[in-house]
Amino acid sequence: MQKMTGFKCEKCGKMFYPKHARCPRCGSLELKEIDLGNECTLMTYTKLFAVPEGVEQIPLLLGIVEFKNGVRALGQIVAEEVEIGATLQPVWGPLRKVHGKTVSGFKFEPVKRKLS
Ligand SMILES: [Zn+2]
Repeated sequence: MQKMTGFKCEKCGKMFYPKHARCPRCGSLELKEIDLGNECTLMTYTKLFAVPEGVEQIPLLLGIVEFKNGVRALGQIVAEEVEIGATLQPVWGPLRKVHGKTVSGFKFEPVKRKLS
């Protein structure tokens, strides 16, 4: 299973995703990988009916999630409906097809809670 990795600046402590060559806050090149964890919270999302070429999920849900350490990431949400505040988990999978080739990356899907 692929793990989603964020980055932390060793100089100022800024954490971010995806990777930048330099820290977006202080410009330092001293960055280390950090584990983002398996759960994140949906902050906001939009539903797109006009999707980029090669995307098979229509409508496409594009959301911003926040991990427990405060790092935010943008990505596709694998669901037809979702609520803001929902707990999601990153999953690795195909995002779209470009010229017959599948492009993969992280998407977010709702965590299925066990019914008790
Ligand atoms: Zn920094």
